[in-house]
Amino acid sequence: MAGVYVHIPFCKQKCTYCDFHFSTSFENYRQKMIDAMVSEIESQVDYLVGKEVNTIYFGGGTPSLLTRIELYRIMDSISKNFTIPHDAEISLEANPDDIDAQTLEDWKSVGVNRLSVGLQSFKQEDLDWMNRAHSRDEALVCIDLIQSAGIENITVDLMYGLPNLSIDEWKSHVQTVIGFNIPHISAYCLTIEDKTALETMVRRGKVVPANEDQQSEQFELLVELLLENGFEHYEISNFGKKGFESKHNSNYWKGEWYLGIGPSAHSFNGISRSWNIANNKQYIKAIEKGQEFSELEVLTKEDRFNECVLTGLRTSSGLSLERLQSITDVPSEFHTNCEDFMAKKWMQSREGVLTLTREGRLRADYIASALFVLK
Ligand code: SF4
Repeated sequence: MAGVYVHIPFCKQKCTYCDFHFSTSFENYRQKMIDAMVSEIESQVDYLVGKEVNTIYFGGGTPSLLTRIELYRIMDSISKNFTIPHDAEISLEANPDDIDAQTLEDWKSVGVNRLSVGLQSFKQEDLDWMNRAHSRDEALVCIDLIQSAGIENITVDLMYGLPNLSIDEWKSHVQTVIGFNIPHISAYCLTIEDKTALETMVRRGKVVPANEDQQSEQFELLVELLLENGFEHYEISNFGKKGFESKHNSNYWKGEWYLGIGPSAHSFNGISRSWNIANNKQYIKAIEKGQEFSELEVLTKEDRFNECVLTGLRTSSGLSLERLQSITDVPSEFHTNCEDFMAKKWMQSREGVLTLTREGRLRADYIASALFVLK
């Protein structure tokens, strides 16, 4: 079991909060980018050593900007170079302004069977300061278009902790997505990343971010509403109806292997992690000239232990002590810290598996970092 992630480094415009790798001026080299990605897929045919690729994920950037032919070329190359079972999960991130009857048919025709839609907010004022390319109206109609095209496996992204987003407005956003009758929702708290336009806006006092209490209140409400409506809270930011959990992301959290294609994409094969150059033109040039286009880090036992702690504690299936022990000896301070977290009711233990309580999930990063082993 393994995954392929394809990073499409193009966007129509730059969202103020975003620090992902992408370019907004790509028309004069988009063909070369697809050629380079196809070459990279062919050159990495041995990376997953014969494992079945049960998930393919087009992320970005904005994969919904690709034409049918461009998508087909990438999918065709993956299919020719890897073993893809007939029930593979094939996801594509789509922005509401790119969704129409024709694009939906195009995506289906190349095998896409799951759409991840970046809605973020239903408040036009938010979409404006975020510099999103879509409008509130497009966010409201796109899910109906997708369902009418016969795609049921849909997830949407929503953001909380936005400046000036009241608890009532947040409640209505969550209720709106519940009303779409979709099987999966991801919700992320707005974070202010370095060197983004949002960071400058905050520094200059143009927007005031939500405080921690407001963020926690919105997260708590989100969990409550989604649990009441039949979603399982299976990872801190992810909620799914039974059978609709993201297979691709679940593979990451379980430590399965994946191959990343495209500029800035990461790959992992159990013993090392590598990452491609995060520059479109340099990526294309390196591939055309047969030069190195990625860096590689061999993971130490401590790296693997810490990653297992971080990902395991984020999921409802939890952190297996047996899996940790198979990586390296679990130090005594780890157990002492766990007892402390259990006394605070942030963590629970059952049959050798540690999970976070609802209270603990609000502090997941702090708890995980306290349990890390030092290199
Ligand atoms: S569309 Fe997505 S990747 Fe592109 S700038 Fe906006 S948030 Fe970033």
